[in-house]
Parts: sequence; structure tokens; C-alpha cells
Amino acid sequence: MANRIIFATGNQNKMEEIRQILADTGLEILSMKEAGADVEVVEDGATFEENAVIKATEVAKRFPDDIVLADDSGLEIDYLNKEPGIYSARYLGEDTSYQVKNQALLYRLSGMEKERRSARFVCAIAAVAAGGTVLHVRGTVEGYIGWEPEGEHGFGYDPIFYVDEYGCSTASLTMEQKNALSHRGNALRAMKKELIAQGVLASGRQEA
Ligand code: IMP
Repeated sequence: MANRIIFATGNQNKMEEIRQILADTGLEILSMKEAGADVEVVEDGATFEENAVIKATEVAKRFPDDIVLADDSGLEIDYLNKEPGIYSARYLGEDTSYQVKNQALLYRLSGMEKERRSARFVCAIAAVAAGGTVLHVRGTVEGYIGWEPEGEHGFGYDPIFYVDEYGCSTASLTMEQKNALSHRGNALRAMKKELIAQGVLASGRQEA
């Protein structure tokens, strides 16, 4: 059985969340950089799952004895035919600030009542384990696009994504509150269960 989980990201916020959720696996958890690789992957899949599998498969070539995880995530707004979706990072250009991206989305929803502002964050996580097992899961968090940006935490589209549970944007939540309900948290928890079900991770260590 593998001793290490390598996550195909350079994002330290994601690593913190991943370490928190997978701590009880007892395995060493490293970003690909910490493991000594910096692989650039072209994400040209048509779905979040395809992109996550492409990334995990590519990085796993460097780490054949480890469990390699990769994620792909984004925001789906129902009224906009699920835009920006898999293009969330590239929406209006990779270098455009989120202040501008968020204002543009708010503008496109001008005058819409709450029922037409439904949205969700989606996160697909793929795993490639020694022996070639490929798994993928999806986690979501349902919410709506508010009428103005608010909150100082989080990143990206958090200031305009509101959840009913708290009646505020996910940028107004603490990291612990967001991790407990987030798409990435839900996907990570589902992946942990799946890895145990498939015999990739030892059982008995799954519950924190
Ligand atoms: P990535 O696939 O995790 O790099 O995410 C793609 C894009 O989706 C990010 O650049 C953000 O624009 C958006 N996104 C994903 N997760 C979140 C989140 O938790 N909050 C805000 N934006 C997010």
C-alpha cells in the first residue's frame, strides 16, 4: 500500500484544506512541488472530471508508487447555462481581476430575482493509484449569486457566492466554516471513502 499522497497543485490554501481532511489517513501528504515535480498540464477536457483525470494521470507518471490526486473546480450559474463552468479561471481572461469578473457576472444577472440566481461550486477530484487504478468523484455546494460582493476571506468568486445556511457569501465565512460545506471538502471526503472502498487506503482510519 502507498505511503504518500501527492496532490497535483501548487496552491497552499488547497494543501491546507487537503491536509486537514486527509490527516487521519496517516499518510504523508505532499504537493507535487514538495514532492519534487512541477508538471504543467494542458487542461483540455470537456468536463471537470476529465480535467481532473488528465492532471492526475500526467502527474502520476512521475510518482508511480504513490497515490496522486488532482482537482478541477469552478462556478456554475444556472441562468447563464452553467457559465463560467470549466472556464472559471479563464473567464474574461486569466489575468483579469476577480473584482472585474465578479462585477461582470453581477451585471449579467441584473434585475433577476433570487430564484433565477441559483449557482453551485463544483469540484471533481481524480485519483491515480499505484497499479493504475483511476477514480473520480464530484463534490458540490449549492447557493446563489448575491446582489453585491461581500466578505474578506476566500478567493475567486467567493464574494458573490451566497449560501442559505449562513445567509452570506462564502467570502464572509471562516476557513473552518467554508471547509465544512465546500465543494472541495465534499469531494475530498467522497474521495477518501472511495479510496477505502477500492482498497487503495486502509479502512479503519477513515473517520476523523
Ligand atoms: P481550480 O480548478 O481549483 O484551479 O479552480 C478554477 C477556478 O474556479 C478558480 O480560479 C476560481 O475562479 C474558481 N473557484 C474554484 N473554487 C472556488 C472557491 O472555493 N471559491 C471561489 N472560487 C473558486
